[in-house]
Amino acid sequence: SETSYLVGLIGTGVGPSLTPAMHMAEGRAFGLDYSYRPIDLAAADISPDRIGEVLSWARALGFDAVNVTHPCKQLVMAHLDHVDPVAATLGAVNTVLFTDDGDVGYNTDTTGFAHGFTEGLPDADLADVVLVGAGGAGTAVADALLRLGAAHLTVVDLDVDRAGALAHDLATRHPLPSVDAAAFDKLPALLPESSGVVHATPTGMAEHPGIAFDAALLRPDLWVADIVYRPLDTALLQAARAVGAPTLDGGHMAVYQAVDAFALITGLNPDADRMTRHFRQL
Ligand code: NAD
Repeated sequence: SETSYLVGLIGTGVGPSLTPAMHMAEGRAFGLDYSYRPIDLAAADISPDRIGEVLSWARALGFDAVNVTHPCKQLVMAHLDHVDPVAATLGAVNTVLFTDDGDVGYNTDTTGFAHGFTEGLPDADLADVVLVGAGGAGTAVADALLRLGAAHLTVVDLDVDRAGALAHDLATRHPLPSVDAAAFDKLPALLPESSGVVHATPTGMAEHPGIAFDAALLRPDLWVADIVYRPLDTALLQAARAVGAPTLDGGHMAVYQAVDAFALITGLNPDADRMTRHFRQL
């Protein structure tokens, strides 16, 4: 089997990503010669719509695989030879393997959220879940929640059209559970009826401080998952803990997208606990 890997991270603003460090440390732990390099399209002055060419260059230059991130996760799909069914359903790819059978796309954001959620909130009641934030990350989370068995999912976003479009897409892709959208100002009526809430807007990051919705809506029997991971301990999670609610921080998704990608790239079974410990030291 291979002992040397060259992996890239293609997108704009990828410089500060913690993913390269996570992959390389895990590669070292397996005794591999594992290089993982950010490839910033903005810094290289390459338009994101040239992602197909960038993939062919990476393959020709000897890369084994790439992670693909904002703004290329949808654009890349048209340039692949095969797409894993979960990624195809979602309509977004974040991992591409250059194989003998061609370029194969996967999505470890959605599988990573599911793995992190199962690990961190194993007893979470999925009867009635609210998702706040219908952007790229929220879409990956929504698909994961439905695969995990959420019976009823309500999508909320300040942009009500975006919430409606995502709910419509989800209902088409997952006919069994019930999925709908609600306006942001319906949260005071929705959350008291819900078993859990996932927050997937940028609110809580250093540049967007605060909590996306009224913390008075939190209660002990409403689990709260935040996907913001810079910082890990957001104002939302602090408020949820203060009322005794079960919580899950965004580090779980951030680590498990890397765990799942490392497994796809190497065929090895990475040590998720070791990757988590490393991530939480970064
Ligand atoms: P995005 O810009 O695609 O989507 C954000 C959505 O949130 C938009 O639809 C916007 O209208 C909505 N929104 C913004 N403020 C809101 C508010 N106060 N109330 C309701 N809706 C609001 O962004 P994205 O790519 O989906 O990423 C969102 C956040 O998720 C990022 O900022 C990042 O912190 C986090 N993220 C975490 C991981 C992880 O691995 N843990 C991965 C990706 C993204």
